[in-house]
Amino acid sequence: MVTVRLKKGKERIVQSKHPWIFSGAVDKIDEVNQNGETVLVKSFDGKELALGAVSIHSQITVRVWSFNCDEPIDKKFFEKRIKSAIALREKIIDKNSTNVYRLINSENDLIPGLIVDVYGNFVVCQFLSAGAVFWKREIVEILYELLKPECIFERSDSESLLKEKLEKNVGVLYGNEPPELIEVEENNIKFFINIKSGHKTGFYIDQRDNRKLITEFVHNKSVLNCFCYTGGFSLYAQSANAKHITNIDSSSEALNILKQNFELNNYSTDNVENIEGDVFKLLRKFRDEDRKFDVIILDPPKFAESVSQVTKAARGYKDINLLAMKLLNSGGFLFTFSCSGHITQELFRKIIDDAATDSGRTVKIIKQLTQSSDHPILSSFPEGLYLKGLICEII
Ligand code: SAH
Repeated sequence: MVTVRLKKGKERIVQSKHPWIFSGAVDKIDEVNQNGETVLVKSFDGKELALGAVSIHSQITVRVWSFNCDEPIDKKFFEKRIKSAIALREKIIDKNSTNVYRLINSENDLIPGLIVDVYGNFVVCQFLSAGAVFWKREIVEILYELLKPECIFERSDSESLLKEKLEKNVGVLYGNEPPELIEVEENNIKFFINIKSGHKTGFYIDQRDNRKLITEFVHNKSVLNCFCYTGGFSLYAQSANAKHITNIDSSSEALNILKQNFELNNYSTDNVENIEGDVFKLLRKFRDEDRKFDVIILDPPKFAESVSQVTKAARGYKDINLLAMKLLNSGGFLFTFSCSGHITQELFRKIIDDAATDSGRTVKIIKQLTQSSDHPILSSFPEGLYLKGLICEII
């Protein structure tokens, strides 16, 4: 087996069970036959530390499969890990009300580089590391054997593949071509999902628990849903009898599906206003018009794709939060999120604190939020926490 020898002292990161070994920690590496193959990681003085997948073009040279060097990395190994991920979802997903959830959350389910989302009878996969790609055939076989879905669809089209110098791949891995829109249910609310070209694997599954929470705050209230995508938060708001809902998104396709989602649930749209446009501009317009809302949701896309973008991203977050705070009625609520992994919880808090100061409003944080429970965070992998949110009362 190909051996990767670490530099002196660099074994500590592996001993802490962090699954990534960066190129800077590597002293010497044997010749690799195939990108993604299994390698043995050793300390500088020859102690066997871990088995992992090598990524020759990545800054993360090895993603660890197992810290037990006697454990064979084969189809059985992946079957065990996938079964364990399935077992967790059996405990946390109420299948009577929800059939869309994340089944495998990459490093956090001990399969680095593999994302698997379930949409009813459809399974959508992303193979985002050389190791996951290397074991793709076996993984698809296991998913078929364990889940017997109608279709397994690949959506390996994330920009992160560029960093790994891996090819993008989108298409059917098993079964027939899926329809343009498939119907799923989340907490008894129906959604149309475009798994072939919607964002991520089609839906922001990670917001499920937070979407449900909003129902406690919106009864008979005016709601502004910024970056609404296909209407996730808005459908929940309507289910809880909001007085008025304003949706903003820059994507006409997303707003089109939003309208279909309202119809699908037989929800009235008489009290719903959909605006295709730029949130940054529209919040300013609303400020100038002196419009006010009782509840505002800010769930923007990732503003920081890399560490170098953190400062600019922080300015963007502060800008929209400051504007939203000004637009809220006294006693209103702001649901604010950041899904940029590079923006830490502490930094996000600081951004909100700064926006609160500059807005001249009194801001009480009443709850801290994160990603839904089917997006677990491995304790030795702090990077697993990426979605941060706060519910703030604005006085
Ligand atoms: N809250 C949604 C997910 C939001 S994803 C849910 O629960 O499903 C972020 C959305 O922001 C995307 O739909 C994207 O089209 C939109 N977007 C990105 N930049 C934007 C901008 N400047 N103004 C308005 N919408 C934007």
